[in-house]
This record gives sequence, structure tokens and C-alpha cells, in this order.
Amino acid sequence: MKKEPAETPYESRLPYEAARVHAAAIYCSDGRVGEHFDDFLQRGLGLPRYDRVALPGGPACLAGHPQAHLEEQGVVDELKFLVEAHKLRRVVLIAHQACAFYGTRLELNGRRLELVQRADLVRAAAVVRRVTGIDAVEGYFARLGENCVRFEPIEV
Ligand SMILES: [Zn+2]
Repeated sequence: MKKEPAETPYESRLPYEAARVHAAAIYCSDGRVGEHFDDFLQRGLGLPRYDRVALPGGPACLAGHPQAHLEEQGVVDELKFLVEAHKLRRVVLIAHQACAFYGTRLELNGRRLELVQRADLVRAAAVVRRVTGIDAVEGYFARLGENCVRFEPIEV
């Protein structure tokens, strides 16, 4: 059945702010942690209006896995665009616990999964630095706690 158009379009009452913060985050598109990522980036790191690069697995696509070769090309192009058009100066990479991309696409699980994710953050950071020339690249591992998600810094 055809859906009738709403009589009045929905209006978001959040104020629009045009100034950029010149920072981007690359993270998994998993909607269960999307708001936690926003909370961490906006309140934890003080980056309101940061640019979002969200795709399954997030930084995994920049870690050289052949299963994510196409995504890697896309994200590299997107980063180059953000450097040029949005004058990007800082990039935050986030991996998260129980990421389905690692479990399903890369067929990893258990303790090994987290080790690969942490190594991937290091590899992805090196790729970001190389293709963008940006030095300020940070990595975090989002761990699921009881009623919270903890963002552990990872040396990248
Ligand atoms: Zn994920």
C-alpha cells in the first residue's frame, strides 16, 4: 500500500551551526553503538559536529584485509575529500567489541578477534597518516560494559 506523504514535513529543532571542527571519526555503522560514538566524540573528546565516516567494521577497511578492498578505496577517497573540502586536521578511529564485520566477514572470534581489531587500528592509523598527511590520528576500542560503553585509548 502506498504511503501517504505527511501533511507537514518533519522539522528538526536542533540548532544548525555552520562552523566546522575539522575532525572526522571513522567507525562501524552498527546502530546499537551509534549514539555512544556520538556521546564519546561530542562530549568525551569535545568534538561537536565532527564528520562521520561510518561503514561496517569502520577502520577495519583500512587495515589491508582483502575482504574489504573495495571499501578501502572508497574510504581513502572520502578522507582525501574531507582534507580538501573540510580542512580536516584530526582523525579518530574507533573499533568496537562484538563487531559483526570481524565475526562474519573476517570469520574471527573470541580473544583473537580483539587482538586483530587492535592491530587493525594501528595499521589503519598508518594508512590515514600516509594518505592524508594528518599526524593527529587517535585510536580507541569501545568495550561493552554493564550499562555503559567504555572507550579505551589504543596507542596508534
Ligand atoms: Zn561493528
